[in-house]
Amino acid sequence: MPGTGRHQLLLLSEGQEVQMGLDAYREVLKKSKLSTDPAATEQVRRVGRRIAEATGRTDYQWEFSLIEDKQVNAFCLPGGKVAVYTGLLPITGDDARLAAVLGHEVAHAIARHGGERVSQGLIVQVGLTATQVALARNDPRAVQQVTALLGAGATVGLLLPWSRTQESEADHLGLIFMAKAGYDPHAALDLWRRMAEAAKGRERPPEFLSTHPSEATRIAQIEAWIPEAMQYYRPR
Ligand SMILES: [Zn+2]
Repeated sequence: MPGTGRHQLLLLSEGQEVQMGLDAYREVLKKSKLSTDPAATEQVRRVGRRIAEATGRTDYQWEFSLIEDKQVNAFCLPGGKVAVYTGLLPITGDDARLAAVLGHEVAHAIARHGGERVSQGLIVQVGLTATQVALARNDPRAVQQVTALLGAGATVGLLLPWSRTQESEADHLGLIFMAKAGYDPHAALDLWRRMAEAAKGRERPPEFLSTHPSEATRIAQIEAWIPEAMQYYRPR
């Protein structure tokens, strides 16, 4: 991991991950209904474009979709394929809090957490060649598993939590991306508080929280990273 020096198990090339990300994204969009709300769709694209620019990954084919679904969720697949579910928007409310979610999700992709999970999970079980053959044949089970491992499990009904290390990395990098994009990183604190508030009185936590454990230390950790992120912050 550039920046932290953490070692990752990555059995696929980045190009292979990006190809899997593209396939998974098409699969998700095929199964989904896009929002017909032009203002909300434009908000996701506007904030998304700024976060994308802040990552410096001009080689990614960035794409931002707003999916009509009451799930409180969002994801970014390898290669910059991003989706937000409409159920998230009442919780984020403004651009800065949406930037906190997108910064976090984009960070999972930039840090290759999905590729790491594919390497550790599916491939350990069935082998790299078998996985590639199954994907090439469009075997629904393989597509479903890879889609979930890459981070878009909500649509295929297979929600998988990220590891605590991956969550911390995504929180940390995400704060820097949002600050570079011109959003005050303090909004990330707001976001997690609102997310915890939204979980109250629900039988199940929002999907975003079920894959993103909201341990009490998270907010404290983010608070500790804010001074660093503020060095990148230039209000627009
Ligand atoms: Zn996460």
